This record gives sequence, structure tokens and C-alpha cells, in this order.
Amino acid sequence: MLNKEFKISFAGSQHLEELELKANEVLMKHKNAELSSGYHHPGYYPTLQNIPNFIKQVQTSKIFKILKAMPKAGLLHIHDTGMTSGDYIFNLTYRKNLYICCHAGGKVSLRFFNHPDTSCNWKLVKDKRADPFFDAHLREKLTSLKRIPARDSHDFGEMALELFDLVYDLVSYKPIFEDYVYEMLLEHYMDGIRYVEVRAACECLYDADGNIYDYDHIVQIYLKVLEEFKNDFPDFYSLRIIYSVDRRVSNEELEERLVIYENLKQKYGYFIAGLDLLGREDEGRTLKEFVPLLWPLKESASIQFFLHAGATNWYGGPSDENIVDALMLGSKRLGHATALSKHPKLMQMAKQKDIAIEVAPLSEHIVGRSVDARAHPAAVMAALGVNFVICNDMPGLWGVEAVSYDWYLAFMGFASARDDLRYLKKLALNSIEYSALDKQEKGELREIWTREWIYFIHRLANGELI
Ligand SMILES: [Zn+2]
Repeated sequence: MLNKEFKISFAGSQHLEELELKANEVLMKHKNAELSSGYHHPGYYPTLQNIPNFIKQVQTSKIFKILKAMPKAGLLHIHDTGMTSGDYIFNLTYRKNLYICCHAGGKVSLRFFNHPDTSCNWKLVKDKRADPFFDAHLREKLTSLKRIPARDSHDFGEMALELFDLVYDLVSYKPIFEDYVYEMLLEHYMDGIRYVEVRAACECLYDADGNIYDYDHIVQIYLKVLEEFKNDFPDFYSLRIIYSVDRRVSNEELEERLVIYENLKQKYGYFIAGLDLLGREDEGRTLKEFVPLLWPLKESASIQFFLHAGATNWYGGPSDENIVDALMLGSKRLGHATALSKHPKLMQMAKQKDIAIEVAPLSEHIVGRSVDARAHPAAVMAALGVNFVICNDMPGLWGVEAVSYDWYLAFMGFASARDDLRYLKKLALNSIEYSALDKQEKGELREIWTREWIYFIHRLANGELI
């Protein structure tokens, strides 16, 4: 019976070659040992810890070490807020000409200026550092999400809005943005990623003289940095942009953004992979409200939707039902979609349409949609054969870098104790199969991944990784 169940799961048809079977024995020896320790000391299991303890504990895990070394191919869901590690973001506050303004109620803003404007009582960050507590306070402001999980996405949203603004204050400074994109690529490259799709919502950059640079400039920077990065690391495959709009916009504003999207698509072609509406689904506008604008674009050759949908704990409400509209609009993948497991018909539809779910386990833990990864809804979806990919959403805001922590939560959290190397192999292959790349590009990325996978398997099987 259990074998029959495995056959219908998402990794059920995955095949392992001879050397992979040997590598699998090593992997499962360590997985079983760590699970067994969890069974005997359940209170200490990493999925139950707060974030700082989770990070510390996972860093000692042999499975984590294996996952870090594993070639993971693509990363298909990361937001341009918090793409790099939290430490990197904090260190940006040491750059020259950074000013801070403290508003009533404790909110702070950051801004680079040659000469500060009069919009706020700006003070040089460098001078504020004379206060010995200043750095700790600022670090807290930039990484405060470490202290949650939030009780629900509402709590998360309230806490996060200030944090998002603060991070944007730093990274949307034009001289920093280039370094920030390069650092994002580097951290993910070192973590086994060779292709990234970024949800890019940052609408403009600024410089120290107050000049503003539009989305077109942002795309040009991504292209320039990609070229530099590929020169430095020729086995990195590529990057694509998913143009992303905050779902709080009015229909008129969305109309304007659609014109911007169309212009970008005309100019940059394949580099603009598609469109998303993001932000808090429980508080934001529903997809249904945008249908009059989005429906006519459904068959357009220039647009492909990659929609956040069903990222909610509510069942049967408007945010839950966003999944219906995303599926009807032909979304190529569904962002988060934790509510999908409550809808057997919609799951079936996702399978029939061959749509993958973008699962971000650490993010979902932090925002309160799955506070213990063992109970993550992806377990049900995977068991019923719905395809998914592992993503990291905004790793820098969680105080981690890249995506291996998310892979750990998947493999040691919601995967079955019986799930083995086939599960990991299928997830890596899914990140190619469900990417925005065309058939030929997928083949090229698969070639890079296969070469690295063979090397990884060789090392794992021969005990060189642990
Ligand atoms: Zn997201």
C-alpha cells in the first residue's frame, strides 16, 4: 500500500542509476540518524525552533551539509527585497553619505545624500555611531523578523512593511543596487543555483543628488550585472525578471503598469519573463478585481502570468479563492498557494495543467502559514502528485542566505521519512522544467546541472562530502 502511495507522489516515477543508489545509501543513513534523534528528542527538532536557534542547529546537520553541496539548478521565486544575506544588507549601512531620520512612533528612514533635503530631520549615520547602542538598534530594525514567527500573515504584514521600506531605502540607491544584484547572484551561485527568476517590484532607483532612475534602468542594471557575473562564473546560466506589481494598486494604476510591462517586453524580450501581482493577499485586492484588465491578456503572446495565489490561512475567503482566478488566468506557476491543499478539485486542475507550486518553507514558517514545517501543506500536495519547486522568497529578511535552509525544511520537515534522493533530484529537475526558459534553454541548463549532479553523486557516494 505504501509503495502504491509513493508511486502517485510527485517523485514517484523518479529513477536512480547505480551510483545514485550508492549515494542514496549515504544520504539516507544521515537522514535516518537525524530523524531518529528528532523522534527521541522532539522538543529539540529544528523545525520547532525559533529562527536564530533553527539556523544554529541546522548548520551542524550533515543533511544540511549535503544539501549545500547539491546542485539545485534554478531558483524561481525570490523578491528583490532581501535577496542577499541579512549581514550583507546591514553592512551597506557603512557606506558613505548615508543619513537616518527617526519619525514619531519609532519608524526610521535611511537615505543617501550628497546634501540632505529638508523632508526630514536627517542625521549622518556615521555620526550616530558615536552612540554605542546605535548599531545594535539599527541591526534590529533591519532584521527584526528574526524574532517572530508571526501569529498570522496580518501580524507579519504589520511588522514587515517598515522593514521592506528600510531595505528599499538602502538597496534602491543606484551605486548599491549593482553590488546588491551581484552579491545575490554570488550567494546563490555558492549555494548550487545556476539560474534565477527575480520578482522585481522596485520601481525606481535614486542617487545622492536626488535623481530618479526608472524601471528601464533597473532592467539595464540586471543585464549588465548578469553579463559581468557570467564572465566571472561561466557555468552560471542566466537570470530573468518577473515584473511585479503591488496588489494594492487601483485598476487605473495597474493599467499604467501594464503599459510599462508591454514596453519593457518589447525592448528586452525573453529577459522579462512575465508578470505577477504580489503583496498581502488577505489585506490586498483580490485577483478577481483585476480580472477585467488581466483576462483580455490571457492569450497574449507577450504576457505570461506567475501569480502569487492562496498564500493564506483563511479557508473559503477571497484570498483563498485567488487560486481559482490564478488558474483560470493561466498562471504558469502559483506563488506559495498554501491554501491549495484544501481544494482537491483545484489540485487536480493544477496537475492537469501541469502547474508547479512555488513553496518557500522558511518564509511560510515566519509569516505563520506553517509554523512547523512537518505540517506544511506541501506534504499533502506532493503526496497527491502535485509538482512544486523550492524557493526562498526573501532570505535576507529571515537572517539567512540563499536557499539551502528552505531545502532542509522541505527534506527534513514535510517530506516523508521514506523520501530519498529521488525527491531531491525531482525538485532540482522541476526547477528547470517549470522555469520560464524555452525548450532549448531548459536543455542547456539541464546539461550544466547534469554535469554538476554527476560530480556531486560521485562525491556523496564516496563519502567525500561528510
Ligand atoms: Zn513571495
